[in-house]
Amino acid sequence: MARSPGRYTEQDVEHYDRPRRRTRPRTKERPSYDDAVDGVVVTVDRGRFTVIVEAREIWAVKARPLGRKGVVVGDRVRVVGDVSGVDGALARIVEVRPRTTVLRRTADDDDPVERVIVANADQMVVVTALADPEPRPRLIDRALVAAYDAGMAPLLCLTKADLADPETLLVTYRSLGVPWVVTRKGGDLAELRERLQGRTSVLLGHSGVGKSTLVNALVPDADREVGHVNAVTGRGRHTSTSAYLLALPGSDDGWIVDTPGIRSFGLAHVEPEHLIEAFPDLDEMTEDCPRGCTHGDDEPECGLDVAVAAGEADPERVASFRRLLAARSEPAY
Ligand code: ZN
Repeated sequence: MARSPGRYTEQDVEHYDRPRRRTRPRTKERPSYDDAVDGVVVTVDRGRFTVIVEAREIWAVKARPLGRKGVVVGDRVRVVGDVSGVDGALARIVEVRPRTTVLRRTADDDDPVERVIVANADQMVVVTALADPEPRPRLIDRALVAAYDAGMAPLLCLTKADLADPETLLVTYRSLGVPWVVTRKGGDLAELRERLQGRTSVLLGHSGVGKSTLVNALVPDADREVGHVNAVTGRGRHTSTSAYLLALPGSDDGWIVDTPGIRSFGLAHVEPEHLIEAFPDLDEMTEDCPRGCTHGDDEPECGLDVAVAAGEADPERVASFRRLLAARSEPAY
């Protein structure tokens, strides 16, 4: 479509509708922020960000050029201004680096918008007690779907192994190839620590499963840092619903993200075609599926059924994948 060089371009209409706010000449270059330093966002509280810059915590707000662009926990950012971290110092976030992954929280009654809550995490640790409280496989399934969709590797962390045998739960997840670690009261966390090395892991779990105990064991200084944050924001991490990034002591670039208030994920946007990409062997079997096939139980000519019938696919694995597919549309609770 040819566009005539008429007088009324969209830009002109915009200027006509709204008073011009521009006070500087158009030719003025945007600041280059040569003096900006790199940081990582550890928590967000009412528009104020705690950022780690050169191994110290500082506080920052979004700079105007970012506009409505969101800044979330885990974001790699560039900051300018007062990065001393002393009381009252406030820096400005001028750039958000491209994100490698995004984890979304579901919309709820209080907030109808699905929001990104954590950026750049590469592992999701689903903390589940083997007993007291009983495991809730439906919630585990939903967390796995969120992980696969976000491009994060899932890890099951099964706590309270002194109370129940993990095998009962593991049969459900083994065919999906989800890795797992088991912890027990007073047991050591060497295996879990090993799995957290060099990664940024989001820890999820409902109350009573022992997630807080794990966080405190993994990061013994966490409580002290909470006191520090309290002094600045007037709010404690334990009463806050926001996620919080913590560096793992003694780890080579290992981080965990605690998620005190995160109970459910938005899965409505998850496409079957995207979910199945997390299972390349199954994905390959769907090449001849009819157009628009969702690969679910009720699809008449799905390639997954063809592969199972031909003995080329593990029926358990296909059934488990389909259970995840179904979990997308089940209620969160
Ligand atoms: Zn199919």
